[in-house]
Amino acid sequence: MNRFALTVWGARGSIPAPAAANTRFGSDTSCIELNCGERTIFLDAGTGLVAAGRKLYEEKRVNGFDILLTHCHFDHIMGLPFLIPLYKDHVAARIYAGHFLDRTTCRAMVEGFMCPPYFPVKPKQFAAKIDYLDFRPPDVIDLGDGIVAGTFRLNHPNGAVGYRIDYDGRSVCYITDTEHEAGRIDEDLVRFIAGADVMVYDCTYTDEEFPRYLGFGHSTWQHGVRLCRAADVPQLLIYHHDVSRTDEWLAELQESVSAEFAGARIASTGLTIEL
Ligand SMILES: [Zn+2]
Ligand SMILES: [Zn+2]
Repeated sequence: MNRFALTVWGARGSIPAPAAANTRFGSDTSCIELNCGERTIFLDAGTGLVAAGRKLYEEKRVNGFDILLTHCHFDHIMGLPFLIPLYKDHVAARIYAGHFLDRTTCRAMVEGFMCPPYFPVKPKQFAAKIDYLDFRPPDVIDLGDGIVAGTFRLNHPNGAVGYRIDYDGRSVCYITDTEHEAGRIDEDLVRFIAGADVMVYDCTYTDEEFPRYLGFGHSTWQHGVRLCRAADVPQLLIYHHDVSRTDEWLAELQESVSAEFAGARIASTGLTIEL
């Protein structure tokens, strides 16, 4: 069986949260690395991507990779301009986006945020060969080598896309950023994640806090548990931690969560799950 592994490089939402109280679970924003055999796929390009890229470069595994973006809020793209392999001319990278609610393209989005006066370097200064690829959910993307990415439109301001990566008989779902409807399970989402091995889920809030943040576009760990139960997903990775969550708070959350659902754990920078 080929290796299929997931590594967390950043689990924060909204903005990085460097602080002495955040060293255990980490401070970097959204980025997950998937290793599918010899292939490397990044889910989101938050600040966690910077260290991921450095490791890729040091290990000389940099010839090619894919980046699947959920959407382009800052916390999901901030690491892209600092991804070292993109400045190497032997590298081929593919960047996918499909969340736009208008005719914006992936390339136009990257050119739009890597642009003076907001940023000094333009994407044309990347030396790598980059393909900017657009899709529309529910498109299914064939990434080659038996890796298939299903896509699902999420409920988030300005749009977002959830992914289901299937490889060699196993699957990971990456469902962030999204707001659920209180008291309702989205049956389409349940079908999308059904039977997956792991779901990484937007757990910005708790159910108790949720009514105060309607319209912010985020969900709760309790809803993640409900979805996993409804869809027979044995592992839940609690993700997109609010900046106010300290190590102490998250460690306490781990206890409440484990009592509720044995397969749930809190995402922390450096965590690797072998599928
Ligand atoms: Zn976010
Ligand atoms: Zn967002």
